[in-house]
Parts: sequence; C-alpha cells; structure tokens
Amino acid sequence: HKLREAFETAIFIAGQDVYAAFSMGISVYPHDGNDPETLLKNADAAMYRAKANGRNQYQFYAPEMNARGEELLALETDLRRALDRKEFVLFYQPQMDLRNRRIAGMEALLRWQHPEHGLVSPDDFIPLLEETGLIVPVGEWVLRSACTQYRKFHEAGLAPLRISVNVSARQFRDQTLLDRVQQAIRDEGIPPHHLELEITESTAMRDVQITSEILGALDVLGIRLAIDDFGTGYSSLAYLKRFPLDVLKIDRAFIPDSPHNGNVAAIAEASISLGHKLGLEVIAEGVETMEQVAFLRTHECDILQGYCFSHPKPVDQIEQFIMDYPLSQLPGL
Ligand code: C2E
Ligand code: MG
Ligand code: MG
Repeated sequence: HKLREAFETAIFIAGQDVYAAFSMGISVYPHDGNDPETLLKNADAAMYRAKANGRNQYQFYAPEMNARGEELLALETDLRRALDRKEFVLFYQPQMDLRNRRIAGMEALLRWQHPEHGLVSPDDFIPLLEETGLIVPVGEWVLRSACTQYRKFHEAGLAPLRISVNVSARQFRDQTLLDRVQQAIRDEGIPPHHLELEITESTAMRDVQITSEILGALDVLGIRLAIDDFGTGYSSLAYLKRFPLDVLKIDRAFIPDSPHNGNVAAIAEASISLGHKLGLEVIAEGVETMEQVAFLRTHECDILQGYCFSHPKPVDQIEQFIMDYPLSQLPGL
C-alpha cells in the first residue's frame, strides 16, 4: 500500500506532471515457490493479471494464472508464425442496399485457420495481435488480400463491388497506413471510392486531433471512411460532424429484435436520422430477421448487413452468392 500511494503523486518532468501506472504481482515464500526463479516467475504471472485487469492494482499469485499465461504464450507463438504459414483467410459478408435492391459491397472479415484449433474467430485473437503489435503486418496483409480479391472478382467478370476493411486502433495510428493504402489501390487498380476503411467509434475518439489528421489524409485519397460499432463507444457528436466520414455503421446491439422493444428501437431510429442529418450513409449490422428488415426499411436505413442475407463466407461461396443474385430472391428486398 505504501508503494501504491507513492505512485499516486505526479512526477514533474520537463514542465509537465507525469503519472506512472502501478501494476504489481505478488508471490509469497514458501507457498508460491521455493526458489527465487519460481517466485519471480509467479510474481510476473500475477503482474500480467493485474495489468490485464485494468492496471493500477496488485494481484496475489494463484496457480491458474500460469495455466492461462502459458495458453496465451502458446497462442502468441502460433500467431507469430501464422502469417508465414498462410493460416489467415478472409471471409466476406455482403451488404445489401435497400434503396436499389443491389449488393452495395462486402466486408472482409479475418479468420485464422489454426492447425489444431480449427477456425478461430477474430474476437479471440485480435486483442492479442493488437497487444503484440502483430496487427500492423497482419492488417497490411488483410488490406492487400482484400484489394487483390477485388481485382480478381473484377477480372472474373463480376460487377465491381465495394470492399470494406476493418482497421484496428494501432494500425490506424501507424505511420505507414497512408502509404500502404495508396500502394494497395494503385497496384490493384481499385477506384478509391470502392475501398472503405472501418474504424470503431472508440478508435476514432481516442485522440480526436490525430484522428482528424489521419482521416483527412485518407479522405484526400478518395477512400470511403466508416465509423464501425456506432453506439458502443462515446462519440462526441461535434467530432462526428468534423471528421470527413462517409458511413455510419450501427452496432447490432441497437438493432431491435422486435419493433416493440421500445428503447432499442428508439436508439436505432435516432441513429439513422442522426447519420442522415450528418450526410452519412447508414448501415445496420447484425440484421437477422425479416422483422428487423421491415423495421429498418420503415426508418429508411440505407444498407443492411447480417445473417438474414448471408453469413460471412469464403471467397468461392461469396462469388457464387454474387453470381446467383438477384436470381435468388433475398428476403425483404
Ligand atoms: P465488426 O467489424 O463489427 O464485424 C461484424 C461482426 O458481426 C462479424 O464478426 C460478423 O461475422 C458478425 N455478424 C454479421 N452479421 C451478423 C448477424 O446477423 N448476427 C450476429 N450475431 N453477428 C453478425 P466477426 O467476423 O467475428 O468479427 C468480429 C470483429 O473482429 C469485427 O467486428 C472486427 O471488429 C474485428 N475484425 C474482423 N476482421 C478484422 C480485420 O481484418 N482487422 C481488424 N482490425 N479487425 C477485424
Ligand atoms: Mg467492421
Ligand atoms: Mg461492427
């Protein structure tokens, strides 16, 4: 407790108050180990837990921390090799335009084909990619692959469809992003307005000044810019208006399961009209039922994405989906 209190005081450096975060792991002799190596290793595991729990705290060691730690370490080792071993794949999910009943585009969604665990979903490994910085090379691979796929679809004679790529917080702030985007669209011959980058609300709001600059530079290239998971972060409406955005994607948490679900329905309705008033296209994510389609149509949502039309699918299946459309009459369109 004395140590923690000591950390609460600011340190004055170069005319600024600087605060140091405090995360501590504690192991106790002889219960947690008989020798210094074991005690330190276990204290380390406890410290990682303290950090993972949100920092500024201490944790006593417990044996299950090592099990979890080793699991994460193994996963991290596997992740480092995944790119070289070509274990990542992109799935695509179509987005349906309610205004003209066409396929508006598709979102590229990352999957990891793990040799033992099978298909791993991004929620299980993207945080680890972020933490280790691996997200930068992997994100670059995603961008490239999606752009290459666009060209291949085009070469195969399919009507050109816009492609959306998710960009994580760290990748967004990486100095090389702009160059890589520029290179990718040039090399693959994509009209800039056919590439859409999605950043989440929380990424955008982390440092609004820097966000403004990066978005501004991407906007100059003519890329479409989308705010993902709208409603789950803390958007400053003033900034939403200032950023050069094109699209608002309402998070599926705010797509009401039934129109009678008053509060959720009210938020969805308000988000659609907010988006439109800001001059943005509005996409609803996670649309699963016909009732939701009807509701979103009534409130003039522009584009829908969700299992109701198609799950995210591997390239060959999505190609088939595009070719079959509009012969295959989709529900609610
Ligand atoms: P997101 O960008 O918001 O993507 C939408 C997620 O909703 C996808 O999950 C998609 O499979 C899922 N989804 C689509 N329709 C429905 C539906 O009707 N019902 C339900 N329950 N879910 C639906 P997924 O593919 O597991 O991806 C999760 C998140 O991981 C993404 O959320 C995105 O934030 C992140 N992610 C995926 N691929 C990438 C990537 O290449 N780079 C980065 N940085 N993040 C990615
Ligand atoms: Mg997305
Ligand atoms: Mg989303």
